[in-house]
Amino acid sequence: MLNSVRTRLTIWYGGVLALSLVVFALIVYYSATRSFYARQDESLQSTAKTVASAYLQELEEEGSVAKANEVVLAQMVFPNRYVQVTDMDGRALAWSDNLAHQPLLVSSQTFNEARERGDSFATINAADSPGLRVAVVPLSNDSGKRLGFAVVAESLSVIEESSGRLRRGFYAGVPIVLLFASAGGYFLARKSLAPIAAMDRQTRRITADDLSARLYVRNSRDEIGRLATTVNALLERLQVAFEEEKRFVADASHELRTPVAVLRGEAEVALEHERTTAEYQQSLQFIKDEAESLSHIVENLFVLARQPLRQPTLARQSLSINELVGECVRAGEVLAAQKNLKLLFEDAPQPIVLSGDDDLLKRMLLNVIDNAVKYTPAGGAIEVKLTTENGSARLTVKDTGIGVPLEDQPQIFDRFYRVDKARSRTLGGAGLGLSIAKSIVELHAGAISVSSDSGGSTFTIDLPLKE
Ligand code: ADP
Repeated sequence: MLNSVRTRLTIWYGGVLALSLVVFALIVYYSATRSFYARQDESLQSTAKTVASAYLQELEEEGSVAKANEVVLAQMVFPNRYVQVTDMDGRALAWSDNLAHQPLLVSSQTFNEARERGDSFATINAADSPGLRVAVVPLSNDSGKRLGFAVVAESLSVIEESSGRLRRGFYAGVPIVLLFASAGGYFLARKSLAPIAAMDRQTRRITADDLSARLYVRNSRDEIGRLATTVNALLERLQVAFEEEKRFVADASHELRTPVAVLRGEAEVALEHERTTAEYQQSLQFIKDEAESLSHIVENLFVLARQPLRQPTLARQSLSINELVGECVRAGEVLAAQKNLKLLFEDAPQPIVLSGDDDLLKRMLLNVIDNAVKYTPAGGAIEVKLTTENGSARLTVKDTGIGVPLEDQPQIFDRFYRVDKARSRTLGGAGLGLSIAKSIVELHAGAISVSSDSGGSTFTIDLPLKE
């Protein structure tokens, strides 16, 4: 249950909402109660003032305290309120009928306060009922002489009833609001997560059945659309890698089948009947040569297969490209001499340093020089040149060989691609040399390209310099 994002979202949402509602209810409840109390005080005070002025008026007219008491208390009848008149010391002189024989017991401190400040308020607690709220107002005649106090009281139950009603409203309302809002939250979470659930179903189907299918992107700018686009890009790369892998395995097995068949055929022919030692030797020599070229192909296949894995562990080091090219040229000179070719090297005037894998870069350059030797007829020339070109080391290998036809140029860097299969095989090639060179150059963030015509080919390799 908790493993569902929908449920977790709803729980979070409900929790935050519950907390906010409770805080809100508490604030409303306390400020409302405070204003109830303030309103009651105000109203009691105004009643007390009315009593006071009526009392003073009566006193003036009647001239006797006892008479004034009688008249005022008979006139001033307020529902649910108790009225009392006291002398300056707070002793009760007269009180309303609803107080029966029990005058209000107001503390002397309250009278002191009223004496000092003009009016005062107090709460008289009772053991079994909510208690009484009392307002005390002084009685002073026109000349400012104080004669006593008017006291008006009312039960606190009035306020307690209102605040109780408010409390009960919150007890019932908060859970109901919470319930509805959480249900709404759950529904919203479900609705907004539905596209993800749909995407999950689609992705499962795609990865199980068919890598070429793609997720449906409703709006590529919202979060879900962006996720779908990312998944689609991932699928695209997976599909390319997968197909590349399939092609590689198919090509490799196809390429290996021929030399293996040749080996087997040769051995079978040799074993058909008794042969002379010289014939056996010849056969074995042939088998050895063929096995050597086979192991060359297998070795290259391993280099290619390992290529993507090598990337993070590429043994990068600072190296002088001038020296590296010089060493490759010296190795190439041996090959060139066997074919009666001239191999020239024009070094850059300044030392060039870049960061890379020494062995891989040598293998790359040797492959290119080896091709130039293989595809250039005797008497030709090969020129290797090193320069710098806007932030890169530029290597060119130029030959006067047979050239690469324009339509084949884009493919010669593909695995197993050979322009002239028969000729290339007799020269010992399996169409892997340039694809290895290209992946090595790309591992170093460089680029390799060819330009060629019937007069020869030029391979250009750019490698970024060390920063
Ligand atoms: P191979 O092992 O067959 O030489 P490569 O991948 O090295 O494989 O080269 C691919 C193909 O590109 C070769 O079969 C050849 O047809 C062509 N090629 C490569 N280098 C040259 C060159 N310098 N001159 C002419 N053709 C070339």
